[in-house]
Amino acid sequence: MNIAQNVELACYLFPNKPALIFEETSFTYQELDEMANRIANGLRGLGIRRGDRIALFLPNIPEFVISYLGILKIGAIAVSINVMFKSDEVSYILNDCAAKIIITTELQSQYVQEADLPQLRHILIAEGTAKKGISLTQIMANASFEARAIEMDRHAPASILYTSGTTGFPKGATLSHSNVLFNSYCANSCYRIQKSDRLLLYLPLFHCFGQNAILNAGLSACATIILQRRFEPERVLQTITDHQITMLFGVPTVFIKLLNMDTSQYNLQNIRYYFSAAAPMPLEVAKNWYQKYKLVIHEGYGLTETSPFATYNHKQKYKLGSVGTPIANVEMKVVDGQGDQVPTGELGEIAIKGANVMLGYWNRPFETAQVMKNGWFHTGDIGKTDEEGFFYIVDRLKDMINVSGFKVYPSEVENVIYQHPAIAEVAVYGVGDRLKNEIVKANIVQKIGYAITEQQIIDFCSQRMATYKIPRVIKFVDTIPKNSTGKVLKRVLRQQSTSQLAVV
Ligand code: AMP
Repeated sequence: MNIAQNVELACYLFPNKPALIFEETSFTYQELDEMANRIANGLRGLGIRRGDRIALFLPNIPEFVISYLGILKIGAIAVSINVMFKSDEVSYILNDCAAKIIITTELQSQYVQEADLPQLRHILIAEGTAKKGISLTQIMANASFEARAIEMDRHAPASILYTSGTTGFPKGATLSHSNVLFNSYCANSCYRIQKSDRLLLYLPLFHCFGQNAILNAGLSACATIILQRRFEPERVLQTITDHQITMLFGVPTVFIKLLNMDTSQYNLQNIRYYFSAAAPMPLEVAKNWYQKYKLVIHEGYGLTETSPFATYNHKQKYKLGSVGTPIANVEMKVVDGQGDQVPTGELGEIAIKGANVMLGYWNRPFETAQVMKNGWFHTGDIGKTDEEGFFYIVDRLKDMINVSGFKVYPSEVENVIYQHPAIAEVAVYGVGDRLKNEIVKANIVQKIGYAITEQQIIDFCSQRMATYKIPRVIKFVDTIPKNSTGKVLKRVLRQQSTSQLAVV
């Protein structure tokens, strides 16, 4: 078993079929496989062996895909790093998983601080000039284009995707070859991808949604993937028109943006399928979309820890407002604080068991045990079921802010802000936003004698964290509400913000 065999099979069956299109360049399945082979052989030449960790710190470019496949072919483990991360965030991950090689771009390499990374052997540059590190093109040019994916134990780790999960600091959710293959086949059967389909992929490849639920699902169906660096609404619409895209995947923010645009000059007629996940889809958006385009937006729910797919709102079994029912080979239940199932309709924590549940957090048995109880993965999401077995996500137990599907953990942001000498106290929390679902807000108490501005806090943060984590709203206050044990009352802060919004 090896995820990369998907592409080898597609290459055997349809060698000349376009597999990946990026800007002006198109790669057939055979070309994709041969390039992945070159990377596999190149990495072997650099001494990489089964089980070694190779980090991918790349935007959505073909080199991400071929490097990912090449790493898997030799049984090494692909570690994805959010391309928006800054030096401290990158160093943390590289050290946590002890990566031997990082594949990145000239631009991103400024955030790779070799002095902090004793175990890192090489930096490979996939885009731009290789002033720092070795050129990936060079490595590929010197390597053979022939290789076969090695057979892996089904439970061997294939990829590590960092998530702050339920406990607030980044941990490497480790997915096996079986987790990913199972999940991409299930995704595939839910969406019913045909080999004639053209999937637009602008969601980040470093995230489970882009990597597994689109890339791996699409490749396992021998479909064509049209890759874009990022979501840019006009560009996306133009690409949908030019490439006759048939399946569109997005997060709610994307659908809200598109819904509010005049799309009359573009041709969306070839799209036969829409899918949304990663954040709650507002009901009125789903309804308005259907009215405008006469196709439903299918919704799925899952987490990085569940590869990510767990539920799907099927065509035959569809309910607006619900995230659907568990997919094949996945069990789900709603539990109370003791882990006992609550009656239908009552709120509790969503727990998941099945072939999609990760092996665990990389090198973190304690944190893994905190979320894995009797074989059930506890999600930190609060939800309920109805009489027909549909699941609804209502709230969350975990302290997380969902900004357009990007997850922000307040403690991470607070820890950075606390490094500023003027800060006496800070509380970071999420407030509702119509477009982004939530935005990050910080209440700050300054130390006596300081008079810091909002902009100074933003500048301080932007050197140290990905842009989407930086507080959009900063409020200077005299005190932060706490309970008798000193715990910050985030719920009170959120409620205060909501009532202020209502007054405005
Ligand atoms: P991630 O690990 O980044 O994929 O984030 C997983 C989290 O995203 C879940 O724990 C949920 O809080 C949220 N999420 C994913 N899908 C949905 C959905 N369809 N509706 C509401 N929240 C979702």
